[in-house]
Amino acid sequence: MSQPLFRTPKGTHDVLPEDHQYMTYIKKAVRHRARQAGYKRIDPPMFENRAVFERGIGEHTDIVEKELFLVTSHHADEDEAEFALRPEFTAGICRSFVENGMQQLPQPVEFYAIGQCFRHDRPQKGRYRQFHQFDLEVIGLKDPSLDAQLIHVVTKIFSDLKFLERMELHINNIGTAENRKAYADALRDYFIGKERNLPELDRERLTTNPLRLLDSKEGDTQILLKSAPTLEQFLSPESKEYHATVLDYLKELKIPYIEDTRLVRGLDYYTQTVFEFWDKETGAQNAVGGGGRYDGLIELFGGKPTPGVGFAGGMERMIWQMKQAGVQVPHKDQVDVFVAQLGPEAKKKCLTLISNLREKGVHTLGALGEASLKSQMRLADKFEARFTLLLGKMEVKGGTIILRDMKAGKQKEISYAQAIPTIVKLLGEQALDTYTIRDQIGDIDED
Ligand code: AMP
Repeated sequence: MSQPLFRTPKGTHDVLPEDHQYMTYIKKAVRHRARQAGYKRIDPPMFENRAVFERGIGEHTDIVEKELFLVTSHHADEDEAEFALRPEFTAGICRSFVENGMQQLPQPVEFYAIGQCFRHDRPQKGRYRQFHQFDLEVIGLKDPSLDAQLIHVVTKIFSDLKFLERMELHINNIGTAENRKAYADALRDYFIGKERNLPELDRERLTTNPLRLLDSKEGDTQILLKSAPTLEQFLSPESKEYHATVLDYLKELKIPYIEDTRLVRGLDYYTQTVFEFWDKETGAQNAVGGGGRYDGLIELFGGKPTPGVGFAGGMERMIWQMKQAGVQVPHKDQVDVFVAQLGPEAKKKCLTLISNLREKGVHTLGALGEASLKSQMRLADKFEARFTLLLGKMEVKGGTIILRDMKAGKQKEISYAQAIPTIVKLLGEQALDTYTIRDQIGDIDED
């Protein structure tokens, strides 16, 4: 074995072909369900002015405070960095909404995005520094039915990918910005004199982002919270009614949920509805995705007040769920035909033969090196080719070719002219990997 001189940076990984089969499958499900529901694809840049995230997500959130990958166009120290890699999609999409005057479009504007996100987190299982998200956003209209419909689209995607059964939906309403501010003040008051009993991290949060105490994993914090005022007490009647209607619509759509008053989500922009899909067995740490309403975000970016609701799912965690659920994704990477050849004349003829087979939609590999026939056949076996076409000096002279069925281990000589029609017949028209211009335009295989 050779020793690699380089490895992927900590917290990153190659998406190898095996996992790409899952990625492609997930992307297909996302695109299909998004299109059905009128979402259009958008790709904000991978990096933005860091203020987009700092202002949008919030200065005192984990994502911005600890996990932002800062980027600079020149060698400068951290404080001078102008840009940051996107840790999620919502902020960039809302920046784009304002920048491109999308308030003029018929509302709501529905977007989906798929791509890499970056967080300088402590790497561990299911937590990477570069990972993939798919994202859905509905901007420009506020109604509880939109929250419920968005969740419905997500459940459809999870169900297509065969792991919905492994998920439980947690949902909460964290009130309007005013409700939350009043609650944060009340929490701070409650903790006056009790700070000493809080773990250090939570003591900090109490000043910067008190709501985060609610989903704190610290036992001491949770005990202290037992007699603290609850967020629910500070929800306006509108928020309560809004929440009840969302839940009612979820029932109508037959989507089971768990009301979870501790769920707050870590980002500042959320208002009212927040939700997460948790693994039934392992809970929040393995959340596959989450989202919520962000009615103040567009305004933060200079737009007129515009409501929005969105969701983001982690694709690596989705792949993990699919594997846990025993889902085998269909893939198209099989080798249909392996072409083996011997002698310069045969080799020359093979170039066209291989090209013509591929044109027909037959997945074709050829051994164009100078190896012996025996080692070429071994290679065909290793590639798990279904058929081998074998062209030697004799066959070239006689205008024939040898066709070998690799599984059956049987071979016969056929006329060279019949090689392609015979292969096509054996594979079946439906198995050919072809595309028409219409498919190509309507169903571009996006990254
Ligand atoms: P969040 O908005 O932070 O809840 O992220 C949405 C989803 O993205 C999570 O539920 C995860 O599935 C995924 N995700 C977030 N951070 C990471 C990470 N560091 N590594 C892998 N997946 C992540």
